Formats: sequence, C-alpha cells, structure tokens
Amino acid sequence: MTRPSPAAALNGVQTGNFCGRCNKRVKTGDLVRAYATHYDADGWVVRRVWCDECGDRAISNGTDGADEVVVEAVYWNHRLAGVKTVDRSRP
Ligand SMILES: [Zn+2]
Repeated sequence: MTRPSPAAALNGVQTGNFCGRCNKRVKTGDLVRAYATHYDADGWVVRRVWCDECGDRAISNGTDGADEVVVEAVYWNHRLAGVKTVDRSRP
C-alpha cells in the first residue's frame, strides 16, 4: 500500500487557530506551518500548528519511528489549504 503524500493528505484538514508557540490567533489567509506524523493506523495527523513567525522549517526532534513532516499552508476557514511539504523525515 502506498502512503499518501502528506501534502495531499493534509490539504483541507481542520486545525485549531492558535499558534502552538506564541498563542497568536491565525486568520483566514495567513501562512502557517504545521507538523504532522504518520502512523499506519491513523494516516497523517496534524500535531502542531504555528504562525508564520514561529513555525519550524525542519523536523527538529524525531518521534518514535513515525514518518514526520513539516508543511507550509494557508490557513483558510479553519482548514489547511495549498499544503506544501517543507521537510520530511522519510523520502
Ligand atoms: Zn507564533
């Protein structure tokens, strides 16, 4: 079974609207970054969302063997849009 691309899988996913680092509220049209993991049972799941100023650009501390990704997206009406992969733990 092929793992779906994180950018495709996370497009349209609902997220919270507060930055996980500075607590700033993000608005529709804002650029955000998000960190997501993939476990086979769950698929791609967003773990953290950050505003443009504090978002990570690379995967910093790995979790236990999951496929991980940092993406850039536009926050749109409580969903991620135009998702692009910035960094990924596995090719
Ligand atoms: Zn922030």
